[in-house]
Amino acid sequence: MIPQQYLDMLGAKSVIRTLSEWAAARGAEIGYDNVFDYSLGNPSVPCPPQFTETMIHLLRTARPVELHGYSPSLGIASVRAAVAESLNRRFGMNYGPEHIFMASGAAGAIAHALRCVANPGEEVVVMAPFFPEYKPYIEGAGLKLHIVPPRVEDFQVDLAAFEAALGPQTAAVLINTPNNPSGAAYSSETLTSMADILKRASAKYGRHIFLISDEPYREILFGGRQINYPAKFYDDTLTCYSFSKSLSLPGERIGYVAVNPAAEQADKMVPVCGQISRGTGHNCPPSIIQLAVAQCLELTSDLSVYEKNMELIYAELKRLGFTVVKPDGTFYIFPKALEEDSNAFCQKATRYDLVLVPGDTFGCPGYFRMAYCIDTDKVRRSFAALERFVHEEYRR
Ligand code: PLP
Repeated sequence: MIPQQYLDMLGAKSVIRTLSEWAAARGAEIGYDNVFDYSLGNPSVPCPPQFTETMIHLLRTARPVELHGYSPSLGIASVRAAVAESLNRRFGMNYGPEHIFMASGAAGAIAHALRCVANPGEEVVVMAPFFPEYKPYIEGAGLKLHIVPPRVEDFQVDLAAFEAALGPQTAAVLINTPNNPSGAAYSSETLTSMADILKRASAKYGRHIFLISDEPYREILFGGRQINYPAKFYDDTLTCYSFSKSLSLPGERIGYVAVNPAAEQADKMVPVCGQISRGTGHNCPPSIIQLAVAQCLELTSDLSVYEKNMELIYAELKRLGFTVVKPDGTFYIFPKALEEDSNAFCQKATRYDLVLVPGDTFGCPGYFRMAYCIDTDKVRRSFAALERFVHEEYRR
């Protein structure tokens, strides 16, 4: 018999996927060009040509038996060394190859990180608004999700609420900066205060509360901002990275866990990830993809379109009277809906072929997300529909 747990999930499918399927079906009717689909965070720019060239070169020159063979269970040694060196150079860390575990995207990295630091039944604290898949990631590992309410003024962290959320059952805190869906990148003040709170709570409860930092958007920052690297602020940090967004490779399923060498039991974490893989059925990402990203670690796709789209959308939303925090990065924006029920708001938007995602799914009702990883031309064309929607439904 299928366990009830999974049958229940069928009834609570991803809202984002459902909306994106609606957009595709509507596109089949009226032409996808006429559907203003802001639902899915699928990069809209190609990977850098160097990645493609590296893949071709590998295919032409490397020995097929190695190129298509099993990777060592923790990742290819030269790739782990290259990742460690790149992180050390960029963020002033001191990772060795032994601190890097190659994983299948951020999803695979988080699956391992959670299981490394938490026993079944313990809690993982998450700040709203958060990526909806955190719920299945956490509950699928037998853990409990504990949500901290949002600080909607700027989508930094409500520090008092954060401190109150930590207790004897807290094994880890899962953060995401810059954030999907708000676009906010945590300031150094936020990260310093969170680290102080985590240290106090760890001492109080007699355990190391781990920080799991999910960073797929680390390179997508606007206005020349630099990321505040969370592991620099707190020793007990496992960084989960993905090349899905920075190199536009979501289908290749490639990322890693980087364990701060100063973390408790740091030397055991990566070997333990290898053991966790045996139980989850996750084996290392394909050898060829590991080898190819290792040669593109400090490259990105041309990410400039996301900033251009953000500026256009932000200005238009302000002009139409929305309350909205200007994103620091990512390709998402998270404005306040024009009625309390953001599900109803997003439902009405579909009458104008606008596909917006209600905030409820991110733990933040009353708001909605727009993923602007789409062509700038389409962004511009969507404004007439947005204006009609606002005027006709809300008389603004
Ligand atoms: N974490 C966040 C915040 C995301 O937005 C996503 C994907 O959209 C993921 C994790 C999963 O990324 P990946 O494709 O690398 O598994």
